[in-house]
Amino acid sequence: MRLASDTAEVFVPDGTPVELALARTTHMGIGAHQDDLEIMAFDGILACFQQKDKWFSGVVVTDGSGSPRDGVYREYSDDEMRRVRRSEQKKAAVVGGYAAQLLLDHPSSAVKDGANRAVVDDLIEILRIARPEVVYTHNPADKHDTHVGVTLKLIQALRTLPEGDRPTKVYGCEVWRDLDWLADSDKVAFDVSAHENLQAALLGVFDSQIAGGKRYDLATMGRRRANATYFASHGVDIANGMAFAMDLTPLVMDPRLGVWEYVKRFLDAFSDEICDRLTRLQSPPT
Ligand SMILES: [Zn+2]
Repeated sequence: MRLASDTAEVFVPDGTPVELALARTTHMGIGAHQDDLEIMAFDGILACFQQKDKWFSGVVVTDGSGSPRDGVYREYSDDEMRRVRRSEQKKAAVVGGYAAQLLLDHPSSAVKDGANRAVVDDLIEILRIARPEVVYTHNPADKHDTHVGVTLKLIQALRTLPEGDRPTKVYGCEVWRDLDWLADSDKVAFDVSAHENLQAALLGVFDSQIAGGKRYDLATMGRRRANATYFASHGVDIANGMAFAMDLTPLVMDPRLGVWEYVKRFLDAFSDEICDRLTRLQSPPT
């Protein structure tokens, strides 16, 4: 497999040769940074955990060199930080029993550059070999430029594949902005109640990020619990943890559909829902 960066790496926890390891993929998470997959794609990790016929592969696009640092990492150079984050992502791959973990090692600037082809070409190469059935990535309404950049490059890559080789489902998931605002009928809701210990372990290995002053581990578990409780206003909780996603499959299947045009449909549905409720409940003008 040819990847653009000389320092890109494919880590296979069980030592299977790379192409074979990747070809067994059924579920794939594609994220910007080390730790994004464990925050947003746990549904896929869980679906494959300890299964004989299902395998999760992770793709981290950026090098992670520019992240904030504190505590024992305070004096680390960008290069040392890059090494730490890479090693943390590999630990997660071991804990989660991933088929393969790809570290593409692109600078964030390449992801945010709409004209840059290197990331798209890497993703095409990976998708051709892995042929995942289900793909998880960032949602296009996320507020982090690099996250949205990854989503746009992935949509571009998926659209180049022959129709029969495209995944059957592509989901845009929650990291920097949750998806509670989607109308309930537009939400893809994953029940992620199981294996809370595994969830905690996967989030906990990213010590350099948590020590950097952000409790992503607590916030992610809290969001999953809040999503489950606030999902339906009537009735008892049916799950202890839920993760929401935006279905991006139509964007992949129809290359003429604009990303903004598609996202605006969800925003309009949100706007209509609030408007309808207020109109219904307000007292008539006197
Ligand atoms: Zn991120």
